[in-house]
Amino acid sequence: MTEQVRVRFAPSPTGALHIGGLRTALYNYLFAKKYNGSMILRIEDTDQARYVKGAEEYIIESLTWAGILPDEGPGTGGEYGPYHQSKRKDTYARYARQLVEKGHAYYAFDTSDELDAMRERLKEAKASSLHYNAITRMQMKNSLTLSAEEVQKRVDSGEPYVIRFKVPLKEDVRINDMIRGWVVVHTSALDDKILLKSDGMPTYHLANVVDDHLMKITHVIRGEEWLPSAPLHVLLHRALGWESTTPRFAHLPLLLKPDGNGKLSKRDGDKHGFPVFPLDGDFPDQKGKTEHLKGFREAGYLPEAFVNFLALLGWNPGTEQELFSMQELIEDFSIERINKSGAKFDIEKARWFNQQYIKKMTPAELAKFLAKELEDEGIDYATETLNEICELMRERIEFPHELWTEGEFFFKSPDTFDQQVVKKKWNEQAVEILDAYKSRITDVSELTDEQAKETLGNLLEEKGVKPGQVMQILRLAITGKSGGPDLMKIIEILGTHEVVSRIHYAIENIPVKQSNQ
Ligand code: GLU
Repeated sequence: MTEQVRVRFAPSPTGALHIGGLRTALYNYLFAKKYNGSMILRIEDTDQARYVKGAEEYIIESLTWAGILPDEGPGTGGEYGPYHQSKRKDTYARYARQLVEKGHAYYAFDTSDELDAMRERLKEAKASSLHYNAITRMQMKNSLTLSAEEVQKRVDSGEPYVIRFKVPLKEDVRINDMIRGWVVVHTSALDDKILLKSDGMPTYHLANVVDDHLMKITHVIRGEEWLPSAPLHVLLHRALGWESTTPRFAHLPLLLKPDGNGKLSKRDGDKHGFPVFPLDGDFPDQKGKTEHLKGFREAGYLPEAFVNFLALLGWNPGTEQELFSMQELIEDFSIERINKSGAKFDIEKARWFNQQYIKKMTPAELAKFLAKELEDEGIDYATETLNEICELMRERIEFPHELWTEGEFFFKSPDTFDQQVVKKKWNEQAVEILDAYKSRITDVSELTDEQAKETLGNLLEEKGVKPGQVMQILRLAITGKSGGPDLMKIIEILGTHEVVSRIHYAIENIPVKQSNQ
């Protein structure tokens, strides 16, 4: 690509950023970085009624957590700022007026009652669903139907008005979408959208197009829900005299529910118990009641795993490779390999990615998570032991917090025991073996896993007992559980004294069922 690529992520701060939004940001970022271009963060906050406090901070924190760092934006600055649309109000009004002067837009004075009446008439006539368009505009109160003096008089007297776009008559608008190919829409299917509202604020359409031009955006990569607006945006670029620099468009496929039936929503997350937001957050729901949203970060997902998962939700590298670092994603990403159809959300896959990234971490890196849990619990620890525990647990966990939930027995001797194992295997013979094992290791001060294994092996051979009959009850006595990592390693980490005392406790406290052997 010879041009300087500039893309933008343009969220509206109307609530928490859904992971679909974060995926849009990610694809913009990957595309920009691949071509050594820039990604701009633009906050589209002109709709004051929908503004939600804390939403902007949430968006920025989510991007930062995911490692999607814009080159220009509110925090970063840049030569095309300000990057909040609310701070660019005058610019939009100027362009709206320019459109009126050039005959591409017009003032409209219709009151809401008049607009309602028009809708009623159209309904009765079973006309198309379009309201304000090439036909109806000529029956309404606007600068196309009123005289210039009348318009001036109304404006001067402070009568509220909006500026509407005058959609050109009878032509095909052609858009070569980078994902969908040619999209052709006839202008008779478009209505005269409001560009400037009566409070002087621009609508999304005007502000978006003006900023894409002024910020020198080359590619607009955004969600599929904006595809119906694209023809209007193309026409606006042209009407403003910017046809030759109209950005290229790429409309991303939707994120679908796990069963593929419709768009992924917050409710799906609630229903299946998985997060659909990057971070935890408290935001008003549709009725204005604050609700708590669950995030991937707090659920224990590593940002690298989450980004990898997100990248492959809708894009494929064309190879079997699944694990990608951000750098690899940047190198391999291409818009052409974004799927046209929606991507089914699969939380199992997200967990799998997390597990893969945990496996790749060093024990010392993982130990930091465990150390934090132990500090919260007020438990003392030796760093070296934590490293050994993490090394052992690494292969078995999907989330860092499982180091604690699954490995608590390393720090607390069990006082409850898996009842299934007790029922099936805890009998006189088992207790006898455990007791003998306890005696044999008592005097070994530095018991290695090898020694622990050898001692057990010799004992079982002497008694003529198969390891399968004993391993699980030994584990039960030491950890309280039926399964877990290598038991001999656990014995080594815990040390003789602790192991002996746990076996003793188990023998004393688990009642022996009458042996049926
Ligand atoms: N502000 C719009 C949104 O919230 C941006 C759409 C676009 O990228 O053009 O999604």
